Amino acid sequence: MSEEILVNFGPTETRAALVENGVLQEVYVERARNKGFVGNIYKGKVVRVLPGMQAGFVDIGQERAGFIHVGDIAAMREDDGELRMGTASSDADIRQYLREGQEILVQVTKDPISSKGARLTTHLSVSARYLVYMPNSEHIGISNRIEDEDERARLKAIVEKLAAEHSEQYKGGGFIVRTVAEGATEEEMRADIPFVFRLWHDLADTIKAAKAPDIIYEDLPLYMRTIRDLMRPNIERVRIDSRESFARMEKFAEHYAPEIGGRIEHYPGERPLFDLYGVEDEIQKALDKKVVLKSGGYLIVEQTEAMNTIDVNTGAFVGHRNLEETIFKTNLEAAAAIARQLRLRNLGGIIIIDFIDMKDAEHQRQVLRTLEKCLEKDRSKTSITGVSELGLVEMTRKRTRESLGQVLCDTCPVCDGRGKLKSAVTICYEIFREILREARTYENERFLVLVSQAVIDHILDQESDSVADLEAFIGRPIQFQVETLYNQEQYDIILV
Ligand SMILES: [Zn+2]
Repeated sequence: MSEEILVNFGPTETRAALVENGVLQEVYVERARNKGFVGNIYKGKVVRVLPGMQAGFVDIGQERAGFIHVGDIAAMREDDGELRMGTASSDADIRQYLREGQEILVQVTKDPISSKGARLTTHLSVSARYLVYMPNSEHIGISNRIEDEDERARLKAIVEKLAAEHSEQYKGGGFIVRTVAEGATEEEMRADIPFVFRLWHDLADTIKAAKAPDIIYEDLPLYMRTIRDLMRPNIERVRIDSRESFARMEKFAEHYAPEIGGRIEHYPGERPLFDLYGVEDEIQKALDKKVVLKSGGYLIVEQTEAMNTIDVNTGAFVGHRNLEETIFKTNLEAAAAIARQLRLRNLGGIIIIDFIDMKDAEHQRQVLRTLEKCLEKDRSKTSITGVSELGLVEMTRKRTRESLGQVLCDTCPVCDGRGKLKSAVTICYEIFREILREARTYENERFLVLVSQAVIDHILDQESDSVADLEAFIGRPIQFQVETLYNQEQYDIILV
């Protein structure tokens, strides 16, 4: 199978697409304006110590000073002549650790919001794809979202083994194995250890040279992360449409992942990179509810806060003779399409799939097996949790980033996310009732109704008799006027 990564670089937005055999499978979007500061490491300066709150404020060069609590301060202790870190106990006096004017290395754990500065810690860490390296710790921890005890033990053993293989670079420090590592092989995790060691080694020089307040480290931009997080042996090449970023990527790869250097290419083409393989169109389609299948059937994909539902439908013209066969084929095609849509839209959490009912138990098994098979390619962990009596397939998919829809879309302001507007007929009758109500209360001369074109059209076509009756009943004329800015649900009744 041929896999390729396309990176469309821009100063305000960068997008990466993973394409398999010419078909878009995954999309990543990063926007400069909402990148945030979490994970950034700063050399800061303590500007205030608050003994009463057991906390302090640290200038990290942002508009507001960051906040650090005694419980987030790693305490130094001397151990056989070497400095080691531990956590200050939360009833320790903050003044033992912080004094005004002191320079301190801190990492952001929470972004600043409105009047509050960033939340800081001195427990520093840098992350790779499967691992987080903590230079000031001694501990190997496994994400508590990986529950299986055997799997936890297996991952811990891999990390210990890999760290020992790089003992010449290993100057102490601990690791946390991230949730994404669940099921990862030793081979897949191998590159992470030298990556974080080199990264930390390079940071040591930056730290020495920096004058507080200054930034020491921020997580890699998306185009670099594609190399760190997406590169696998079967990725044939990475193409990026910016010459400068390409140069930086090559340099980065040379330093941190030399084995992939030759696979990075600059794309100089006139034609936008995301027009290759129709990536731009596919992204548009991935925002639609409806997914058309080749067999004539289609999926309806809906995302709510609680879950995602996918409804499988046959096309309109289904012959009677081979109905069961058509349904089986549609469900098989749907199973593959669903696995792709989950990745493409990055849907996470609970997913309920309503396949078309099949009587044949063997057909049911085959559809489920196809779904399982196609889900194997998914980097996010999926598991089919059950098939209900009604034939609904319930599954989960690990939620990592926001879904594509959440990244690219706002709730529709016209229908407020309902996905539906009251019909012209409904609005028309609402207006009639409102006029009746007001006619009883006020003694105006006439009514002027401002309303959308769609409702006016309906009134002229279907309801002119009703308007005449209403005018006679209330003894006042009613005039309608188009307000082009109004959507179908909006209207104003003006008493003249
Ligand atoms: Zn809407």
